[in-house]
Amino acid sequence: MIERSRASVAILGAGLTGVGTALELARNGIPVTLVDQDECPMNRASLRNEGKIHLGLIYANDRTLNTARVQLQGALRFRSILARWIGPRADRLRRSTPFMYLVANDSVLPVDRLAGHYEAVQSMYAGFLDDDPALDYLGDRPDRLWERGSLAHVEKFVRTDRFVGSFRTAEVAIDPAELSALLRQAIAVSPLIRFLPGRRVAGVDRSGGRLRVEGESSSGAWTIEADQVVNALWENRLGVDKTAGLVATPGWLHRLKYRVIARLPEKLRRAPSVTMVIGRYGDVVIRPDGTAYLSWYPAGLRGWTDELAPPASWNGPCRGELPEEEARSIAFEILAGIDAWYPGIGMSQPLLVDAGAIVAYGCTDVDDASSALHDRSRVGVTSVEGYHSVDPGKLTTAPLFAEAAAARVLGAWTTA
Ligand SMILES: Cc1cc2nc3c(=O)[nH]c(=O)nc-3n(C[C@H](O)[C@H](O)[C@H](O)COP(=O)(O)OP(=O)(O)OC[C@H]3O[C@@H](n4cnc5c(N)ncnc54)[C@H](O)[C@@H]3O)c2cc1C
Repeated sequence: MIERSRASVAILGAGLTGVGTALELARNGIPVTLVDQDECPMNRASLRNEGKIHLGLIYANDRTLNTARVQLQGALRFRSILARWIGPRADRLRRSTPFMYLVANDSVLPVDRLAGHYEAVQSMYAGFLDDDPALDYLGDRPDRLWERGSLAHVEKFVRTDRFVGSFRTAEVAIDPAELSALLRQAIAVSPLIRFLPGRRVAGVDRSGGRLRVEGESSSGAWTIEADQVVNALWENRLGVDKTAGLVATPGWLHRLKYRVIARLPEKLRRAPSVTMVIGRYGDVVIRPDGTAYLSWYPAGLRGWTDELAPPASWNGPCRGELPEEEARSIAFEILAGIDAWYPGIGMSQPLLVDAGAIVAYGCTDVDDASSALHDRSRVGVTSVEGYHSVDPGKLTTAPLFAEAAAARVLGAWTTA
């Protein structure tokens, strides 16, 4: 038998985008039904990522500055939007040590081009702060976002022969697990949010002037008739959009990227977090609890497809389930890749290995200067007659676009 229900607003996908949209609508008195394939909200990319709140520095190869602009807008509103959803805990999210940007000797861009981009971001940032006193970066308004560093200052930590320059930045990462726990709690206590777990969305049917969400669960088929639908399905968003008659411009790419959370050796617990730029490199994020997020692109990138949706085989690692032997081998390769330039990282003790899908436009990889992957500005909300599809781009910008999606729903609600 088919399980049938009704909803004013059905939100598909309970990552930061869907959860944020639900909380924002609930704040405005709108009841919503939030649907996810997993048993709890915040179980996929929004949990299994690096947690960096991007200031736009990494997208130095987008000369238009459009990507930097959207990242800055997301970063400078990240805390205040979250505070509406989770209260003052948004002001006290644990942070990593600040990122150093280390310029690889085979970087796609030379040091001076990077410095030029960072200064352009600095000017944009100063302009934003002047225009709006309510903006902040995780509660602070630092004067400078970057300074030129000296390799001599980092030789205590890294092998400087691998690099041609370094920059100190104000950028930090939060811990996505802490954020996820707070958001799950907010969903659980909201009387206006009905969370339906364990339901895989197959499509959205528009026939008869209504929106009907259809899918499968362990107990069979289900449908939800809704006045409005928000699609926040991340790597399955485009496939479901197609069923609703919304066809994406070709050129998208799904990549499967693994990460390791590891316990650091004592001597590295106050070391700098590092982003190695620009190419197929990685990041080390040093957290205050003695753990680190570790990524090394050549070892961690294990899936690449331009199909409308990734294969089902990505599902396991994207919800944190992978065979122990495979997890051990991936952790070994990622730690070894980083240890070659950040000695001591190889002595870390892996605690967790999982993966997430990265959705972006591009055909070639990040070590190609002309790759569209350097431009992440083609993101946001697309709405057609009560159906709203949200590409948040990044964790950094997910609250911003969740707020925008909720505004679209509210707009249609008040004119209905
Ligand atoms: C390894 C990695 C590192 C990253 N690092 C950063 C970073 O440092 N900073 C940054 O800003 N961004 C980062 N990102 C990007 C960031 O994680 C994503 O942009 C963001 O989390 C997307 O949020 P979302 O809510 O749209 O997706 P998700 O959190 O994936 O939520 C989508 C939800 O939809 C559900 N779902 C999907 N398909 C279906 C279906 N058919 N039926 C039912 N439910 C379904 C999923 O279960 C999931 O709960 C990183 C991503 C990865 C993978």
